[in-house]
Amino acid sequence: MAYEVNEKIRELVPYQPITGNYRIRLDANESFLVPENEILKAIQKDAVSVAFQRYPDPIAQELCEAFAKAYNVNVENVVAGNGSDELISLLFSSFLMKGECAVTLSPDFSMYSFYCGIAEGQNKEFKKRDDFSFSIDDLIDFVNKNKARMLIFSNPCNPTSLGVKREEIRKLVSSVNALVVLDEAYMDFWDQSMLSEVNQYDNLIILRTCSKAIGAASLRLGFAVSNVNLIRFLKAVKSPYNVNSISQKIGAEILKRKDWLAFCRQKICKSRDELFSGLKKIEEKNLGRMRVLKPVTNFVTVKTPECTSIYQKLLKDGIAIRCFDGFLRITAGSETENEELLSAFEKALKE
Ligand SMILES: *Cc1c(COP(=O)(O)O)cnc(C)c1O
Repeated sequence: MAYEVNEKIRELVPYQPITGNYRIRLDANESFLVPENEILKAIQKDAVSVAFQRYPDPIAQELCEAFAKAYNVNVENVVAGNGSDELISLLFSSFLMKGECAVTLSPDFSMYSFYCGIAEGQNKEFKKRDDFSFSIDDLIDFVNKNKARMLIFSNPCNPTSLGVKREEIRKLVSSVNALVVLDEAYMDFWDQSMLSEVNQYDNLIILRTCSKAIGAASLRLGFAVSNVNLIRFLKAVKSPYNVNSISQKIGAEILKRKDWLAFCRQKICKSRDELFSGLKKIEEKNLGRMRVLKPVTNFVTVKTPECTSIYQKLLKDGIAIRCFDGFLRITAGSETENEELLSAFEKALKE
C-alpha cells in the first residue's frame, strides 16, 4: 500500500525564508527597534511569572484589554491570535465553505490565496493596474458579480506600500454582499484605520498585528477586531489555547506602554521617509530604470525591470530585501542600515 497525500497539498512546498547570514535584513518588514532596557527587564520578569505548567488563558483577557486600550476599541470587540496569520487561516477555514468564492487582490499578501486553497475555497483574483492603483467601484462589481462570500486585502498594502482612504473603504464595505476582512497590519504607519467604525458594519473584520510597528514579531501576536456577533463566532471556532501564556504576558506589557509605541511609530515613519527620499534621488539620476512609489507603510516599493539583478547584487553585498515580479520591497531600517542600502543600491545600478 502506497500512501499518497491529497491533491490540495500535493504541490505545496515548505515556506522558504531567506537563508544565510546577511549583515542587513530589510526583507521582512520587521521593526528595527528593540525595547529599551527598562522594558526588557520587565519582559524578563513577565517571562518567569507565568504559570508554566498551566494552559494559557483561552480568551487572553489581559492582552486583549491592553490592545483595546492602546487602540481605543472595546475589549468585547477583540480576539487574539497566534499572529494574524493564524486568524487569516481561521477565517478561511471557518467563514468560507468548500467551493465558495473568496476575492483577493493582486498583488497583495500571498498568504490569503494560500489559506484559501487549503480551505478549498474558490479564489478569484482582482488585478490591480500596472501602477498598483485600482478603482473601488470595479472591485465592488467584481466581488458582487462573482457572488463572493469573502473579500480579503491589506490596507495599507503589502507589498505595494500604497493605501486606500477610509471613505473608499466605507463605500466598499457597505456595497458588497460579503464578509470584508481588512488587514491593517501596516495601519500604524498611516491614519486611515477603520477600527473605530467596526460596530457600524455587520460584515467587517479588521486584523492588526504586533509584528510590525510594535516590534514583537517573535511573540506571534495578532488581533481581529469586529462587531460582537462576529467576534462570538471567531471565539467559537478558534482553538482554545491558541496564544501562549508568555506571549500574552509580554504582549500586554508592551501594549501598555503608549509612549514607547508612539516613539517607535514616529522613528519608523521617519526612517521610511528618509529611505523613500534617498531612493527618489537615485531614481532622478536613473530615469526610466526605476520608479519609487510613495509609501504609507514601513517599507518602500520600487518598480524596476532590473529587480532580479539588483536583488542579487545586494545579497552579495550582505543586504537582504524582497524581490517580486517586477518590483522590490525594502523595509525601513536604522539610519546606518538605510545609508548602506542606498549606497549599495546605487552601486548595483552602476555595475
Ligand atoms: C506582516 C503581515 C502580517 C502579520 O502577520 P503576523 O502573523 O501577525 O506576524 C499580516 N498581514 C500582512 C499583510 C503582513 O504584511
